[in-house]
Amino acid sequence: MSEKKIPYKIYLEENEMPTQWYNVRADMKNKPAPLLNPATLKPMTAEELGHVFCDELVKQELDDTNPYIDIPQEIRDFYRMYRPSPLVRAYCLEKKLGTPAKIYYKFEGNNTSGSHKLNSAIAQAYYAKKQGLKGVTTETGAGQWGTALSMACAYFDLDCKVYMVKVSYEQKPFRREVMRTYGASVTPSPSETTEVGRKILAEHPGTTGSLGCAISEAVEAATTREGYRYVLGSVLNQVLLHQSVIGLETKAALEKYDITPDIIIGCAGGGSNLGGLISPFMGEKLRGEKDYQFIAVEPASCPSLTRGRYAYDFCDTGRVCPLAKMYTLGSGFIPSANHAGGLRYHGMSSTLSQLYDDGLMEARSVEQTSVFEAAEQFARIEGILPAPESSHAIRVAIDEALKCKETGEEKTIVFGLTGTGYFDMVAYEKFNNGEMTDYIPTDEELAVGFAGLPKME
Ligand SMILES: *Cc1c(COP(=O)(O)O)cnc(C)c1O
Repeated sequence: MSEKKIPYKIYLEENEMPTQWYNVRADMKNKPAPLLNPATLKPMTAEELGHVFCDELVKQELDDTNPYIDIPQEIRDFYRMYRPSPLVRAYCLEKKLGTPAKIYYKFEGNNTSGSHKLNSAIAQAYYAKKQGLKGVTTETGAGQWGTALSMACAYFDLDCKVYMVKVSYEQKPFRREVMRTYGASVTPSPSETTEVGRKILAEHPGTTGSLGCAISEAVEAATTREGYRYVLGSVLNQVLLHQSVIGLETKAALEKYDITPDIIIGCAGGGSNLGGLISPFMGEKLRGEKDYQFIAVEPASCPSLTRGRYAYDFCDTGRVCPLAKMYTLGSGFIPSANHAGGLRYHGMSSTLSQLYDDGLMEARSVEQTSVFEAAEQFARIEGILPAPESSHAIRVAIDEALKCKETGEEKTIVFGLTGTGYFDMVAYEKFNNGEMTDYIPTDEELAVGFAGLPKME
């Protein structure tokens, strides 16, 4: 049988693009645990969630039965401006590594925000607009989510208030300016503009902030303003749902050439790109139709899946959000200051946590110098300057391809290349100067975070 020649880039035609998102929860036997009201410890109702999130997004958040949800035409029109994203056959990398493995990557960095986050930002902005809201609030760490949301809000003419972790605000002034160019207002967090921000500042003067703090501020800013709701760029079920467009496109592109992956790899911060990439494949596995090896890759300095506890935890530092059951390091956990590579959230998507706990997915942790080595190698061979977050997946894809070289196995490896690293040059500079170090928290340090987990009686 003659094999079809696989092009360097596999694109989809417009009529091959997904018209529905895929909701993996519908096929899960063990559903992800519900969000709980921290006061009553009862599952959050749609009404309670509706004070914080848009109504349609609440519906999606709570829906664990419908496998397919229509992508509204307006969102599909926006997707068309930058999607499909290419699925690239890494011929050059394979050759350089001398591996019999076949490597593919789905590249999500081809839009101005530079990452996959735009896939959910545009959906969330659309539902906010449809509900007649004035605007939305959010937090951003490294800045990709804030940028994506700013673009989406500009498109739908919504106000956008971004609380940006102070250390990033200072280190990444250009990210900030991109957001402002799209019309967002950007406040360094913690700030004096919210009650919770003032409280955190009083308790920790001079703190450079964390995602958990910025979430608390953004939620307060939304719930104390008429016509505003809060939106979040990862972790939530609805975000994984929107990001399933990555996996659906990948699957459609592979099927065009009769390719079946053996291993699917993604980096994991809050779990949205990984969840989106693997969802349709995981669906097949859950339904007993096919089997795949899934690998989540996280930083050794923020190892929620590989060393965390599977427990209910606070989603934010100020403890204003519902409780989520997830693999977590505790909401008080803050990664070491030398951590440069993103993926610093203390917890992990409830959906992915359940799949991992059920043994349907593996997780690995990698150290940041080896991540940047992989990033540099990839940039020099494949040409794309990868985001540090994405480079966690590159590291493990290369490791798996090198294993194939030893065993002679011709495995097909697919990984998610979530974004570009143009705004991460401070981290690259450290690496280039040989000043980057690795830090792995001790069990004693992790115990401090676990001690702060909520008592559930
Ligand atoms: C935000 C981000 C991630 C991590 O977030 P997930 O929700 O785990 O996907 C990874 N890569 C890039 C480029 C990002 O911007």
